[in-house]
Amino acid sequence: MSRREHTVPARRGKAIEVAAGQEFRVINTHGTQVLDTWAFAAGDTSTFLSMAHTRSYISRIHIRPRDMLVDNHYQPMLTVLEDTSPGVHDMLMCSCSMPIYRRMGCTEYHDNCEDNLHAALAEAGLSSPHTPAPLNLFMNYPVGADGGFSRFPPVTRPGDYVAFRAEREIIVVLSACPQDLIPINGETRTPTDALVALF
Ligand SMILES: [Zn+2]
Repeated sequence: MSRREHTVPARRGKAIEVAAGQEFRVINTHGTQVLDTWAFAAGDTSTFLSMAHTRSYISRIHIRPRDMLVDNHYQPMLTVLEDTSPGVHDMLMCSCSMPIYRRMGCTEYHDNCEDNLHAALAEAGLSSPHTPAPLNLFMNYPVGADGGFSRFPPVTRPGDYVAFRAEREIIVVLSACPQDLIPINGETRTPTDALVALF
């Protein structure tokens, strides 16, 4: 089985073409990094992986192996094949953005997943007028019984990965979340690189 790897640099985004039927793994190299993950139909960024539609489709707010993740037309886009991590991911939160960092007190520019998405798309010659809600792999935001949620560091181990199969030709975009004001990327608040392997 041939394997091609792409590094997602710390604090940055990366767009990767994935063929229909191809498998890819999102690998948490250091074990502490949240990866905001988007997918778009090849040639049509108005069709994208939708967390709202996927929550309806799987009747859950957490992904598990064998789940089908669907687009904004309720059509199959990704199948979850395997998850070697403890399975703690988020599919409720928006990506971090400059308005969020401003609200947190940043007066100067802060790297953010929203800008990373659009920069990665531009690098691939693509654009999207919107920022779809991402699948936040490895993000540990447990929802309490009262509906409130907490923001905790990932519980992932170094090298843990989630494997997906693309159900059609897609562009996957990942952002190694640059959030370093709160410990969602580990107690040391140090965003790291991660890896995507294609098979
Ligand atoms: Zn982020």
